[in-house]
Amino acid sequence: MGRVTASLDDLPLRDDLRGLTPYGAPQAPLPIALNVNENTHPVPDAVASDILDDIAVAIRDVNRYPDREFTTLREGFADYLGHGLTAEQIWAGNGSNEVLQHILQAFGGPGRTAFGFAPTYSMYPLIAQGTGARWVAGTRESDYTITPEEAAEQVRAVDPDVILLCSPNNPTGTPLGLDVVQAVYDAARGVVIVDEAYQEFAPRDAASALTLLEGRPRLAVSRTMSKAFAFAGARVGYLAADPAFIDALRLVRLPYHLSALTQAAAIAALRNADVMLAMVDEIIEQRDRISATLEALGYTPHESWSNFVLFGGVRDPKTVWQQLYDQGVLIRDVGIPGHLRVTAGTEAETTAFLDALASIGSAS
Ligand SMILES: *Cc1c(COP(=O)(O)O)cnc(C)c1O
Repeated sequence: MGRVTASLDDLPLRDDLRGLTPYGAPQAPLPIALNVNENTHPVPDAVASDILDDIAVAIRDVNRYPDREFTTLREGFADYLGHGLTAEQIWAGNGSNEVLQHILQAFGGPGRTAFGFAPTYSMYPLIAQGTGARWVAGTRESDYTITPEEAAEQVRAVDPDVILLCSPNNPTGTPLGLDVVQAVYDAARGVVIVDEAYQEFAPRDAASALTLLEGRPRLAVSRTMSKAFAFAGARVGYLAADPAFIDALRLVRLPYHLSALTQAAAIAALRNADVMLAMVDEIIEQRDRISATLEALGYTPHESWSNFVLFGGVRDPKTVWQQLYDQGVLIRDVGIPGHLRVTAGTEAETTAFLDALASIGSAS
């Protein structure tokens, strides 16, 4: 190859993709990485070797395509979720981002509209636009909550084909009541997705939208193994919905989209769910410690039911972000003026973040 001279503008790119920026959370090799809401506790040794045993068996058969319907894995997710769910109500993909993409491919696409209450997960507009759908951002109260009445009114006004409700919400951590989900569903003509990526970090008695699935064929609840489950690198997300909804996703998925190795790893990890999830309480403890300490430092942490904290009162987020970076601590500037977001890590990582922040000085 000679000189690389082409830029994106020189290529016959789709008009609707021109000017867009790809998802780009920095992946810097810093000692304390608290920027993308991973579970920072490594997979326990005993579980790792159990998973490896299953992968060792699966690899002998990789000359063949894997089970296209990933039946054993779907049974595993149905068992894990409970609520009387069965395998035919379960779907999965390489991360819940792929599951969301399947939804947007099946129910979004050119001429259609996807909707969510901003600020919310930054991938929603990108996945929607990737299928040619239009993204419309609704609004929240100043504390990022939404009332059922206000939510229903916005949904009726926009009349979207796909509605994405993030519960609890990323990047704010805000809980979302089931009354809002119900009101949105009743007001909507399109499909309603409740993204429960962080559900395991919510209070134990907080009801999941899974309890609303019965009798609501346009409702789907998505989950991921990337957060509480400490499995982000394996790329496994899943969803529960009416079997007809699952059939719609089958129309757009690529055949054999979940590799035999992914299926083997996820099945083995699910079998060890109790050990994989053992650190959740410890992470919640660190999250609450972050909120309390930030408040003492004069910042304004927002209520969080997730494994991260969004905090306001940051006079110059870019500078504070850089000063933390220079001390080896990576957090996230999510683009909300006066705010930064930090993931709750191990006790030591959390201490490193809090100490570094305190060394920078207190809030504005
Ligand atoms: C992290 C996250 C996901 C998970 O994405 P994966 O593709 O499963 O890793 C989904 N939704 C939200 C809101 C998230 O923050």
